[in-house]
Amino acid sequence: MPQSTNYDVVILGSGPAGLQAAIHAARRKVSVLLLGKETKSSLFHAHVENFCCLFNVKGEDMLNVGRQQAINFGTEMLEEDVLHVAPDGPVFKISTESGHEIETRTLIIATGTTRNKLGVSGEKEFLGRGVSYCVECDANFYKGEDIAVVGSASAAVSGALTMLDYAATVHLICTELEVSQALEKQLKDSDVVIHEGEKVHEIKGGENVKELILADGKTVPVTGVFIELGAKGVMELATHLGVQLDDQMKYIQTNKQMETNVPGVFAAGDICGPPWQMAKAVGEGCVAGLGAASFAKKSGR
Ligand SMILES: Cc1cc2nc3c(=O)[nH]c(=O)nc-3n(C[C@H](O)[C@H](O)[C@H](O)COP(=O)(O)OP(=O)(O)OC[C@H]3O[C@@H](n4cnc5c(N)ncnc54)[C@H](O)[C@@H]3O)c2cc1C
Repeated sequence: MPQSTNYDVVILGSGPAGLQAAIHAARRKVSVLLLGKETKSSLFHAHVENFCCLFNVKGEDMLNVGRQQAINFGTEMLEEDVLHVAPDGPVFKISTESGHEIETRTLIIATGTTRNKLGVSGEKEFLGRGVSYCVECDANFYKGEDIAVVGSASAAVSGALTMLDYAATVHLICTELEVSQALEKQLKDSDVVIHEGEKVHEIKGGENVKELILADGKTVPVTGVFIELGAKGVMELATHLGVQLDDQMKYIQTNKQMETNVPGVFAAGDICGPPWQMAKAVGEGCVAGLGAASFAKKSGR
């Protein structure tokens, strides 16, 4: 339960970007409230082995440590979704799902992204047991194995090419390639087994993934399936504030200080675009947290 209805810095999102922003802002001795649900962070189900200075750590454990650090430095937490946020003179007014009304001088949007899903049987069941949404994160777990990448755009094709350095066999399942001629040539000259014009019907296995069933009934024996269909951000809150998005309207646009075009509104993490990686999220969170604390102090809290 928040102690107040009035804060210097409110952070939307309690993933690594929001937590790091909270840690850095709170250490500047401004009042900080962090909103959002830990279990909805992309990191919650991850197993991280590419974050500097840490080996093989469960995302859930990292989030728990981050929350405790943020609390130790004075951050207040409210595990609720924000439904509405709007400017009101020198402050921003926030309404949460249980009806809390909160005011803040500065806002940090760190609401992450949701990976686009295939929507087939087995996808949810085998998440973390053969199904992955991130070649960058999980390639190393599939050394010497047979894997498939699903998707038709450049992320899927470059993901498949990357996986050639790790896996024994790499299949690419795609409807119709949507990549530059140069990337298409690179793909076709490579050892990737291309299943163009195909769709995945089902992901099957026992304890872990064992095979893909394609729409035409064909079976592809694999132990890993990388679903590379892009991601979408939670943009409603940002657009309501007049925050500028990138050319493709997919991510929040910021400068190097993580400031958006709206004074007092910062953004950090996956919502600012790829690479969707924890290292980037915490770096941006740090910059946004420091910037928001300075902005709140200057604006005469
Ligand atoms: C399965 C998996 C494995 C991964 N493995 C790795 C890895 O090995 N290495 C690596 O570096 N990265 C990995 N990643 C990526 C990494 O998890 C993300 O890059 C990182 O979590 C992004 O942090 P974030 O804070 O921007 O967003 P998130 O961690 O996604 O957090 C977003 C937060 O915003 C909150 N939120 C959303 N909407 C609202 C709202 N309306 N109101 C309030 N709060 C809201 C959510 O509840 C959540 O708390 C993995 C991702 C997945 C899915």
